[in-house]
Amino acid sequence: MDIAKIVNLQKRFFNSNATKDLNLRIENLKKLKLILKENEEKLYTSIYTDFKKSKFETYLTELSIIYRELNDAIRNLKKWSKQKRVRTNLANLPAKSYIIPEPLGTVLVISAWNYPYQLALIPTISALAAGNTVVIKPSEIPKNTSKILAEIINSNFNSNYLTVIEGGVKITTELLKEKWDKIFFTGSTSVGKIIYQAAAESLTPVTLELGGKSPTFVLADCNIKITAKRIVWAKFLNAGQTCIAPDYLLVEEKIKDQLLLALKKEIENAYPNIKEVQENYVQIINEQNFNRLEKLIPNQKVYHGGQTNNENRSIAPTLLHNINFEDSIMEDEIFGPILPVIAFENLDDVINKIKEKEKPLSLYVYSKNKNIIRKILNEISFGSGAINESIVQISNPNLPFGGVGASGIGSYNSKAGFDTFTHYKSILHKTTWLEPNIKYTPFTEFKMRILKFILE
Ligand code: NAD
Repeated sequence: MDIAKIVNLQKRFFNSNATKDLNLRIENLKKLKLILKENEEKLYTSIYTDFKKSKFETYLTELSIIYRELNDAIRNLKKWSKQKRVRTNLANLPAKSYIIPEPLGTVLVISAWNYPYQLALIPTISALAAGNTVVIKPSEIPKNTSKILAEIINSNFNSNYLTVIEGGVKITTELLKEKWDKIFFTGSTSVGKIIYQAAAESLTPVTLELGGKSPTFVLADCNIKITAKRIVWAKFLNAGQTCIAPDYLLVEEKIKDQLLLALKKEIENAYPNIKEVQENYVQIINEQNFNRLEKLIPNQKVYHGGQTNNENRSIAPTLLHNINFEDSIMEDEIFGPILPVIAFENLDDVINKIKEKEKPLSLYVYSKNKNIIRKILNEISFGSGAINESIVQISNPNLPFGGVGASGIGSYNSKAGFDTFTHYKSILHKTTWLEPNIKYTPFTEFKMRILKFILE
């Protein structure tokens, strides 16, 4: 694979101005939707092969989100691409001022394995909508999905506009040697640092969608049954392999026992027979992650679950209790179906503990108490979150999605994605019929007085 050649072809195509044509962008987004629809069965099958994920879950967490993003971009991109007039200040009159959205150029999208289609395609849709050309480097770990993505994109699009380059660390390292106009990366914080360093060499702008430990507050006044149901759904979807899944619970001491019991009941309802991996529960992606997760389960702290089966790489939805911030499970992002529960009595103490750590990607609060909700939202910095829900914030196109600090740089989702791949070029457009002499020499006292009047 001649990476340099592909990048050159894309740059040449971009420089031809072809992608400035809004109709070309719309046509290609429609084409992408059509080929995804035509190949839906293949998409479902390859996800099933890699994850044992049901069609329902694949539709809910991958395809529906991609179609929504495509529809949104197709419907709105003419509006988003419009030049915007802004007010001109007194000092510059007579003139017009406007902002022209322009595509950045040739973009590299590097994605993670856990939602292999949407993590590769959502930023790609935004980048194409904004008028860029795109090279996608999907994660090599779910190899069937990577192969299908490459097959259907590369057989339908010209590589000078949109192409998939498959591979792991070696290929990504090669790709990072090229000069891009933007790199959009989804993955771990440690690899995010490698990407950022490589991009810095050529001052390439980056968006980094990274990971982290997402705290979930459960306060005594919450609706315990609904809270347990929603947390169990959000945590064990994709077997906990979701960047914004609740990583750990912070539960008020006085409802700890009630909540644990309610969580256990909800797990038993949702996943009644986990010994065999059944239709509604996803596998752990590979042996390396299975072994990592298995080691994270401290037997003496298992409240529910804890069973593992290395033949089908399944780990039962697991609740851990009597956990504190010093336990080893509290060190790194869990990224699997293990949910530690920390009980607390003093809210300020736990808020301070979180503030001592890296800024989380997400945070959730289950409570009806507006003051407490406001306090937590006001005091802790994190990427995105939800109240009395978890993970669903990503499904609202009006909410930009991204991290902060160690959990990421920049954001995307619908218009925010368009902005991520757009440069807003500011223009002050002057007339020639008036030429006041004030700014020119000689700099007199009188001119100074007029200047002060205008500029202050
Ligand atoms: P990862 O960082 O290991 O890999 C991500 C991508 O980087 C892959 O395409 C991989 O091929 C490439 N890569 C890996 N090592 C590299 C290296 N040394 N040099 C260059 N490229 C390299 O992440 P992952 O295991 O695929 O995904 C899990 C992580 O991603 C978790 O931390 C999770 O929280 C995070 N994540 C974040 C989001 C988000 O939207 N913020 C979404 C999904 C996953």
